[in-house]
Amino acid sequence: MLRASRQILRHASKRAMNARSIPASVRYQSTETAKTSGTRLLASLATASLIGGTIGFYAADAVTSNAPRSAQRNYEKPKYGGPNEVAAAKQELLQLFPSKDGKERVTDDKHKLEAYGFSPNSYHEEHLHSLVVKVLSTEDVVKVVNVARKYRIPVIAFTGGTSLEGHYSGYQGNPGGICIDLSGMNKILEIHEADSDVVVQAGVKWEDLNHALEEKGIPLFFPLDPGPGASISGMMSTGCSGTNAVRYGTAKAEWFLNATVVLPNGEVIKTRRRARKSSAGFDTTKLFIGAEGTLGIITEATLRLTPKLPTSVAVAQFNDVSSAVSAVTEVLQSPMGAHVQCIELLDNHMMEAINHAGLSGHTYPVKDSLFFKFQGSPLAIKETSKIVQDIVKKHGSKDFKAAKNSEEAEELWNHRKVALWSSLSWLDDADTRIWTTDVCVPPSRLPELVGETKKDLEAHNIKSTIVGHVGDGNFHAFLLFRNDEELERVKGAVHRMVHRAISLDGTCTGEHGVGVGKKEYLVEELGEGTVELMRSIKRAVDPLNLFNPGKLYPDKENK
Ligand SMILES: Cc1cc2nc3c(=O)[nH]c(=O)nc-3n(C[C@H](O)[C@H](O)[C@H](O)COP(=O)(O)OP(=O)(O)OC[C@H]3O[C@@H](n4cnc5c(N)ncnc54)[C@H](O)[C@@H]3O)c2cc1C
Repeated sequence: MLRASRQILRHASKRAMNARSIPASVRYQSTETAKTSGTRLLASLATASLIGGTIGFYAADAVTSNAPRSAQRNYEKPKYGGPNEVAAAKQELLQLFPSKDGKERVTDDKHKLEAYGFSPNSYHEEHLHSLVVKVLSTEDVVKVVNVARKYRIPVIAFTGGTSLEGHYSGYQGNPGGICIDLSGMNKILEIHEADSDVVVQAGVKWEDLNHALEEKGIPLFFPLDPGPGASISGMMSTGCSGTNAVRYGTAKAEWFLNATVVLPNGEVIKTRRRARKSSAGFDTTKLFIGAEGTLGIITEATLRLTPKLPTSVAVAQFNDVSSAVSAVTEVLQSPMGAHVQCIELLDNHMMEAINHAGLSGHTYPVKDSLFFKFQGSPLAIKETSKIVQDIVKKHGSKDFKAAKNSEEAEELWNHRKVALWSSLSWLDDADTRIWTTDVCVPPSRLPELVGETKKDLEAHNIKSTIVGHVGDGNFHAFLLFRNDEELERVKGAVHRMVHRAISLDGTCTGEHGVGVGKKEYLVEELGEGTVELMRSIKRAVDPLNLFNPGKLYPDKENK
């Protein structure tokens, strides 16, 4: 809490410095007009994809031919309403959403705006919203979007609030935007056990969903596991994953069967029906996965579930990351690979931090370590554990500890879970803060990335721990800092790490998403043509650039 409020203060002064005035230019559009233009917009999305694709093609071609590329494209600065329009919007919203039982639905209370605009988990430039509106239904979202469009005010969706790259920060202009809080839309609407799917509202949290299924005795679960408190719609919007991705893939796999979405023109669409598969046209559900609230506001979704299998845990230590990674490759390519649900790499620093924190009640060898979670019948787990033990031995691991029962398995896995808190207390300094990074490379390049990164961090005297979803080549470094000078050094190290990952054919973000923190890397990673295709789609769906402006799409000057 203390840490969060300290950061809020820091951001508040930054915000004052960054405030700038936006010309007020308000043109009114009736809901009727919006509806008609909405249908046109959807049609134009397909066209835009084609145009974008063509642009992408020519841009790619231009790379080799040296022909001029996107320079000729016309970018208009968005025109947003000023303080008068925000005041008028507030009055309309207050009428539409009156307080009930002393609970307000619309607020511009400074402390609440800070809580919604500034993330305690991000050290990027962040800004205040002008208003926050709490919604409870798809219809509520439509009402807010229509008011925002009428007064040309940016709209930023907020649900779980656990994203890490400044995703839900306020619009950087003055005044800010309207933050729509969907966390109150937290109902599980339908459970279709026979079809292994559920229909949920946007604000349902993945842990609550799995808990509810368990309580009802339904032997199924939803396997995407990002940060604690993350919501289904936030998870879709960031294209998340987590420790289970080795076995179940990411949000970009087929876990989301459809979504109900409010478009910037106020129109409500459902991307698909509930059938398990469909080849009816291109995948509009995926359009909103990883879109970070820039194309539409998700209000409901149908999720695919999978059987919950018994699991167990084992830990092995290695001489170096390289040996650990080659063991992982062999494990995953072995016939028992399908029984491996998670493989997490914790480097020697992380093990030292865990020992130091004493949260685990167990002292580990201070070595690069792998935490395995196996799944299947007790026999399959036993067999997998034996084969994995043989493989890790071949790769130099002398220590292999397999849980003997479910309590021990839970305890061992818990030691992986305390990684973040252990890192935070490693320096024995209450001022310690953590910058969490997220990059991903083809798994075989991971030792190179980790090795180079560790050298770089050492050279710049930065204390850090590493925890990686190693089976996917995805890793997070927790970079510790205590003051602004150390923060600057950390920023530089993150920058170099991202470039290193991209140069190894990787990505600037394996699972956390782009927000404001990673958008400067997209052109380098994806190429101008691909980024331009994203912008074309954005322009077609949201021509007024109302939804989460300033996020995801690289700024022109950052190219
Ligand atoms: C301790 C910790 C551990 C983490 N570990 C992981 C991990 O292992 N893997 C991983 O992938 N991530 C991880 N994260 C990051 C985070 O949990 C994910 O990014 C998560 O998917 C965000 O969901 P959320 O509901 O909190 O979204 P929010 O933070 O509320 O929003 C995220 C983005 O989605 C947009 N958005 C929110 N709701 C909607 C909506 N209804 N419609 C359209 N857009 C919307 C927002 O505008 C914003 O751009 C971790 C975070 C923490 C704090």
